[in-house]
Amino acid sequence: MKFHFIKICCALFIVVFGMTACSDSNKEKQPNIIFFLVDDMGWQDTSVPFWKEETPLNKKFHTPNMDRLAADGMKFTQAYASCVCSPTRCSIMSGMNAARHRVTNWTLYKNQTTDNEDDVLVFPKWNVNGIQPVGGIERSTEVTTLPTILQQNGYFTIHCGKAHWGAKDTPGANPLNLGFDVNIGGHCAGGPGSYLGIHNFSAAWRNGGTIWDIPGLEKYHGKDINVTEALTIEAEAAMDSAIAAGKPFYLYMAHYAVHVPLEPHNPFYQKYKEMGLEEPEARYASMVEGMDKSLGDLMDHLDEKGLAENTIILFMSDNGGLSAHGRGGTPNTHNKPLNSGKGSAYEGGIREPMIVKWPGTVEAGSVCNDYLIIEDFFPSILEIAGVSGYQTKQVVDGQSFVPMLKQKGTTADGRDLYWHFPNKWGASGPGIGTTSTIRSGDWKLIYWYKDQHFELFNLAEDIGEKNNLVVNNPEKVEELAVKLSRHLREMDALRPLFKESGEPVPWPDEI
Ligand code: CA
Repeated sequence: MKFHFIKICCALFIVVFGMTACSDSNKEKQPNIIFFLVDDMGWQDTSVPFWKEETPLNKKFHTPNMDRLAADGMKFTQAYASCVCSPTRCSIMSGMNAARHRVTNWTLYKNQTTDNEDDVLVFPKWNVNGIQPVGGIERSTEVTTLPTILQQNGYFTIHCGKAHWGAKDTPGANPLNLGFDVNIGGHCAGGPGSYLGIHNFSAAWRNGGTIWDIPGLEKYHGKDINVTEALTIEAEAAMDSAIAAGKPFYLYMAHYAVHVPLEPHNPFYQKYKEMGLEEPEARYASMVEGMDKSLGDLMDHLDEKGLAENTIILFMSDNGGLSAHGRGGTPNTHNKPLNSGKGSAYEGGIREPMIVKWPGTVEAGSVCNDYLIIEDFFPSILEIAGVSGYQTKQVVDGQSFVPMLKQKGTTADGRDLYWHFPNKWGASGPGIGTTSTIRSGDWKLIYWYKDQHFELFNLAEDIGEKNNLVVNNPEKVEELAVKLSRHLREMDALRPLFKESGEPVPWPDEI
């Protein structure tokens, strides 16, 4: 009897000890993840060259910490997002292509569109209320969000900075309703009233709307501090609390920078003035360097805490650099050699600076020239976190880019990328309009709804999209128009109507 008791005790000990050891080793395997998302940062607004050669813009901008990250990680030269904020951010949270989630323009007030009026087109009833954690909210998409899944799998989820997923007075406006344990400064609005603590991060001092006031940073009000720095301090504290709780963290570090309003970021501003940069370029460049310092501070913090080796950092921007308004200067040089900027279907509106550091997995100083698109971050981050077999309310369109990170394959071969913007953004400029776009290999076809014409470019030969090849390539135009239309129908995409007749504008393959 006694012998049996000892045997049972031993067995129990082995089971309990084994389980503990097993769960401990699982915990060890769960890495920390920082998704460092910049707002409105262009492909060339950095000293890291993302093109085949260094450009004058790479010399103008100083981003030593992006240089450091690129030296430690993999640089992606053809990473894409949507051309404005909310569509990109909703794709990150849902893994859905914008044509499917239907949050195709930027969100703000409940049930109110941000589309500008047009003389020919009426814009469809897109999801102006954004993504939501629950059903039953009109003009929104109910989704299982990325941080919700991470939370369910043991992660401490931190939202820091700009959210911009759901309209004011809806649950989706608050990151705490979308799977985040902590919310630092995020709400419905897609820009800050001010970057400056002396203005309480509000536009009130210049008689701007209070809708842009950044919530929850009251302790910095009246202080001589930039919000980029305040957010960094708060993010570090939140990471520390995750560590104290013994949990891996997902830090979604979504800076308000470098979105308008363009305000000097000290102490960097003076240097750019002395370099001879005119306004507002000196202010903008100082904001870029301020953002870069935040990246460096976070990396230093990881080093100090001994976390650097078990933390993956993904760097990305949500749309192209602003060139159409609010920047001044000569707009068409802002994203050179790319054409145009934010809001445009051209490369300047959608191609982003992307870097991933994954110690022990990603080869330091490596480069990936395969293309990918913003919804790919959803499955990629879950794969990096070791989460599989998850269930989502939505169809996930994104494909994991982990094979590229490991240099064990690519998702780019035989894959086409799609953008859908059945809207009208509030500025004019090259490639800014109501469009749907397909990228297939080196080819890119843009369909313009207003007058139903096409543009065809070969990006390998013409990265600046100057030579429309439609006339000499009717077969390629037809092939891509058919693919693009098939995609839009499959997604049940919305399309604009003609104002005069009320009829929908034809799909690209109906032309
Ligand atoms: Ca943006």
